[in-house]
Amino acid sequence: MLNANLNPAEIENFQLSHEEQEKILQLQQAILESVAHGEDHMAVINNICQLEEQLLPNSVGSVMLMDGAYEYLNVYAAPSIPAQGISRLNGLKPGPGGGSCGNVIYRLEPQFVSNTFTDPRWQDLRNLAYDFNICSCWSVPIYSSVKKVIGTFALSSFEHRSPTTFHHRLLDIGASIIGIVLDRNKSEASVRLFEKVFEGSEEGIMITDPNKFILSVNNTFTKILGYTLEDLQGQTPKMLSSGQHDEHFYANMWKSINTFGLWRGEIWNRRKNGEIFPEWLSISAVYDQNGNLSHYIGILSDISDIKTAEEQIQFLSSHDALTGLPNLMLFKDRLDHTFKIANSNGRKVALLNIDIDNFQLINDSLGHTIADKLLCDLAKRLSQGITDTDTLCRHGGDEFLLALTNMADIESIRSSVDQIFEQISQPILLTQSPISLSSSIGIALYPDDGDNFDTLLKQANVAMQQAKKNGRNTYHYYTEKLNSNSLEFLHFSHGLRNAIKHEHFVLHYQPQYDLNSGTLIGAEALIRWQHPEEGLIFPGRFIDIAEKTGLIVEIGEWVLKEACRQAVAWQRAGYPPMVMAVNVSVLQLRRGNIKALIQNILRETGLAAEFLEIELTESILLDSIDQTLIMLKELKDLGIKLAIDDFGTGYSSLAYLKKFRIDKLKIDQSFVRDIANNPNDAAIILAIVQMAHALNLKVIAEGVENEEMLTHLLSCHCDEAQGYHFAKPMTAEAFAQMLDH
Ligand code: C2E
Ligand code: MG
Ligand code: MG
Repeated sequence: MLNANLNPAEIENFQLSHEEQEKILQLQQAILESVAHGEDHMAVINNICQLEEQLLPNSVGSVMLMDGAYEYLNVYAAPSIPAQGISRLNGLKPGPGGGSCGNVIYRLEPQFVSNTFTDPRWQDLRNLAYDFNICSCWSVPIYSSVKKVIGTFALSSFEHRSPTTFHHRLLDIGASIIGIVLDRNKSEASVRLFEKVFEGSEEGIMITDPNKFILSVNNTFTKILGYTLEDLQGQTPKMLSSGQHDEHFYANMWKSINTFGLWRGEIWNRRKNGEIFPEWLSISAVYDQNGNLSHYIGILSDISDIKTAEEQIQFLSSHDALTGLPNLMLFKDRLDHTFKIANSNGRKVALLNIDIDNFQLINDSLGHTIADKLLCDLAKRLSQGITDTDTLCRHGGDEFLLALTNMADIESIRSSVDQIFEQISQPILLTQSPISLSSSIGIALYPDDGDNFDTLLKQANVAMQQAKKNGRNTYHYYTEKLNSNSLEFLHFSHGLRNAIKHEHFVLHYQPQYDLNSGTLIGAEALIRWQHPEEGLIFPGRFIDIAEKTGLIVEIGEWVLKEACRQAVAWQRAGYPPMVMAVNVSVLQLRRGNIKALIQNILRETGLAAEFLEIELTESILLDSIDQTLIMLKELKDLGIKLAIDDFGTGYSSLAYLKKFRIDKLKIDQSFVRDIANNPNDAAIILAIVQMAHALNLKVIAEGVENEEMLTHLLSCHCDEAQGYHFAKPMTAEAFAQMLDH
């Protein structure tokens, strides 16, 4: 897992760039080569100074050592400083005004002076600084093998400058190798010197013979690769290969070594434990005095950390540092992509602007640390609830943007939004008492509200502001029409639950007549919601919501019971028996055991099955036919009647209906309405009636509002009718009164 707590600037300052890393390796290698070629220690130290000067243009390197009495500093090596300068420097007394080097000894730590003309540490050497135009001077201690400071290694510049990480590394490498080189018995052979540098190096070093058989590796090398010298001796570097590079890669590498004497680059190798890792490798060919190839020297450093840091930088440049969520740039990028997908599959993308309500209060009262934790927690929750193709992003302090992709309709958006409210409101335990949050969400839809990211973002923000105005803890669509729907949905789905609990429903009854005899033959039970504040609400406003929330199952059960109870009550009161028609939703048939339910209700209420008629819509017939056939047969076996409501609006063919043992078709109001004016509708009704009769089905017309309609229906030989022309739906009391007359 990547650490999201570092910011990119911190990582960049901390790590070397590839280019700098390469320069460091070059330096190490060059030093090592001079040692390997048998140069004496003085030559090696001069070489180090010069190599570093090349890496820091406009500067001179110098090594000063403490005298035997540990009182004064004297110049030991300074290949680029003129003799007068050296004599001015010699005998420098360490102290608070003794320049960078004098202060290194005085304070026993590195000194980086960027302006020698003003820095108090250069007080005693100000003239020297002016005379030789030394503008800045960085100096680090040189340690002996027993960690005693024996001198200083300095880079003095002819310009004012401050060191970077790279410069710190240059100084450290110089001082440490000089320390190794100096820490010797002066009589020691140069071979020993090589060994010391070899072992003291922070880079992994491998030496092979001309045939690439490994002769030796240093400690660092065995640490990086995990192999011991014994594992490697007599092998070729091939045994380290990771399998990440092809033949071509290695062929080029050796071609470069054999042509130019050198190859440098990034390469993946395999450690003994099997892990593969990136390293920065430089291989050079070493030739003896006669110009014959004597060795290959490989110097490598493990750059997996740099790689990880690069990945971190990459990650952080596209993600929010606190939550690890994509930032706006990446979010926009992903969204542009999802728009394209939406274009091809005709789906919608919903852009949600989620603003946490009153977050400033939390910030002020609980502090930033808790507030940050809360945001992380929220980010986690929200991301858990979304699909792979959805994208979440943190936008500013307490705002999140969420793109819901692949949305088929408003319904699916609505249920996702419900889920988000749920997730955000879950209490979070960060303090002694749990914190509960709410949010205001603005929703803009692609392509409806805008065909590009910027527009949508603006609209979602406008919508979010509106949600805030509406009292927070709510959501708002940019498109006004969706709002009324969704508000009503929220409002009603909650209210309906209460209505069930408190029995706020009533049934009204609308009489049905036989057109031949003109007698009353039945009543349709129609539900109304007796809303405590809004008064009587008609089913057109809530049946749909009840179906979508599944509440229709419970509501429908109550309707069936109540309608049967009423039918029996009228019969017992002495009114002539009539059929009670009850609307049953498809969901009631699919969920629960409708047959057992009706059977129980008939038994409990004492209504004979022949007086119950259930009205189904055509959609049930299109469902899974085999199952529906069985279910409808079971219902028919109970002895009840089946009618198809709103007939003509669906897709069922008459011949097909026969299979379902239907008793009656209810021609939809829409055909009846225009029967007098629209010859088409009249023709359809006539056809329906004729075919129904051929199939032994009765036909009832609903929505009969006037005499003219009735006349037409009669001429079509329609059997029964219901509508305002006869009576509006009415309360049970009104219905009984009507029967009384
Ligand atoms: P529906 O079953 O087709 O009921 C007929 C609707 O037409 C009723 O509306 C009724 O009041 C209305 N109506 C009756 N005569 C006329 C007329 O002459 N002209 C006009 N324009 N309309 C007339 P209502 O009561 O608002 O019910 C609407 C729908 O709600 C019903 O249509 C039915 O589908 C559903 N519904 C009603 N009660 C229930 C119920 O208990 N359960 C279920 N699942 N659905 C119900
Ligand atoms: Mg009906
Ligand atoms: Mg109807």
